[in-house]
Amino acid sequence: MNLGFIGLGRMGGNMARHLGVAGHDVAVFDLAPAAIERLAGKPGIRAARSVAELAAGAEVVFTSLPGPPEVESIVTGEGGLLESMKPGSVYVDLSSNAPSLVRELHSTLAEKGIAMVDAPVSGGEEGAIAGNLSVMVGGEKEIFERVKPLLVAFGAPEKLFHCGDIGTGSVTKLCNNITGFSIGVILSESLTLGVKAGVDLQTLASVIGVSSGSSNRLVRKFPQYLFKGNFTPGFMVQLAAKDARLALQLAEEVGVPMAAASYTKSQLDEAMNRGWAEHDSDSVARLQEERAGVQLRLP
Ligand code: NAD
Repeated sequence: MNLGFIGLGRMGGNMARHLGVAGHDVAVFDLAPAAIERLAGKPGIRAARSVAELAAGAEVVFTSLPGPPEVESIVTGEGGLLESMKPGSVYVDLSSNAPSLVRELHSTLAEKGIAMVDAPVSGGEEGAIAGNLSVMVGGEKEIFERVKPLLVAFGAPEKLFHCGDIGTGSVTKLCNNITGFSIGVILSESLTLGVKAGVDLQTLASVIGVSSGSSNRLVRKFPQYLFKGNFTPGFMVQLAAKDARLALQLAEEVGVPMAAASYTKSQLDEAMNRGWAEHDSDSVARLQEERAGVQLRLP
């Protein structure tokens, strides 16, 4: 198929590459020339000069952008998708976005005969490289079925979910992310507690990793980032802080109290204030390390 892909960062660059390898003709665009150059010469990939040029020839357009402001400007801004996509084409937003914006864009695009699904992903840069992400889709079932053969290029077939109407993919994603970040916060507390009280970190991680306190964060994420003292993203603090903010905005909109999530957001905001916006989100644990006077590192 003729596809367009906008936003070629840690996630998007890899997802676009998988679509090209799967045999599609993928026109790509990013504000950063370096992001486009990284894909040069890859199968099926060709650089577009503008969003308008990319959209004009595409049956399906994907975006993987930082968040709501970038998505809104790419869709409704001058020369954006609303002006340039053909009636009958489909727009798939893979960004972690605000459900309210996703719903608004869905109805604006529908007036021009352009379908839209929100399809945020999970699995990190590692999952994007391997092509086995989870994909959480919101929108009409029929459009989900139409784009499913494309989503399997970068998503694991058993992890493609139709969550419900437009916006529900984004709701699901925000619920997932605030859970993961909050687990990271409590883990940094419990692990600094255990170490300071005399148990070595490897023992704590091994035992909790197979017991009731286990999580993906402890078993997969911390060993690659926090335990190695590796804060090269991965998943940047600024994107995590954005997701925490969006989760709490959603909570406000629907009237759900979220005390633990509010604490988690305060920790991400503190990490931002320390100047760690572009560090990996595991940097948040460094705040607790400082307070406890304990470093969570493994050889
Ligand atoms: P990133 O910062 O690596 O990539 C974003 C890309 O978008 C950059 O290349 C940037 O130049 C480009 N961009 C920004 N504004 C643009 C615009 N107006 N027009 C064209 N290009 C523009 O971010 P990422 O880690 O790849 O994340 C992308 C999205 O996926 C975010 O919404 C994020 O929350 C989500 N996400 C990230 C991860 C992860 O582990 N990194 C996991 C799941 C979901």
